[in-house]
Amino acid sequence: MNGLQRMMSDIEMEVNLTRHLIGKDALDERVMAAIKQVPRHEFLPEDLRYLAYNNGPAPIGLGQTISQPYIVALMSDLLETKPTGTILEVGTGSGYQAAVLSKLVKQVYSLEIIEELSIKAQKRLEKLGYNNITVRTGDGHFGWIEHSPYDGIIVTAAAAEIPHSLIDQLRAGARLVIPVGLPYDYQELMLIEKMANGKTLSRKILGVSFVPMTGGYGRKTKGLAGRSHE
Ligand code: SAH
Repeated sequence: MNGLQRMMSDIEMEVNLTRHLIGKDALDERVMAAIKQVPRHEFLPEDLRYLAYNNGPAPIGLGQTISQPYIVALMSDLLETKPTGTILEVGTGSGYQAAVLSKLVKQVYSLEIIEELSIKAQKRLEKLGYNNITVRTGDGHFGWIEHSPYDGIIVTAAAAEIPHSLIDQLRAGARLVIPVGLPYDYQELMLIEKMANGKTLSRKILGVSFVPMTGGYGRKTKGLAGRSHE
């Protein structure tokens, strides 16, 4: 079995282990196909590429991390993407999650608060030929109003509370997937659905550990992104 195949079966195994929390035995086939198509090693620093197909997070510099593949797959699944959709991502990091989403929707907009990472991710995505992803340096607490409303919003850093702007910029019927909790403490991956009347329905999915959202209401600290607790 090669690295990618092993990673795919590790994701399937972890989905199965967490089936009671996530409410399904398997993720959407479109999502699994998208994960399979994205060369994760391209998103890691060269000296860490040997970790690319492990089902774990990895450091990408500046105290930030590329999320665990299982979490990337799960969050992509929870968004219930459609090929015609437009998604906003908060926390571009390496650009890996954005690349996976770009296979599932028409257009991905991604915000990264650290300029150095945002420029690097933008260059990387361009070089790899992902031409339906637009990356910008900015604070995701305020969303990205110009391209709203979105058919889904994904936040890949832990928020102390759910930013109102993100709910505002969500289309009715669309979903926000976001880890909520204290930095380096317990965080819940939350699924928020915006109803036709503008009200929201929230569901807790499972405990996770993401680097904190900075800017808006957060603080600057370090840690691992997207590592699930079993
Ligand atoms: N999705 C990334 C991993 C995310 S790590 C990937 O696939 O590689 C979380 C990222 O969120 C970090 O790069 C961090 O700098 C960024 N971030 C933290 N707070 C943010 C904010 N308020 N707005 C936008 N990005 C933020």
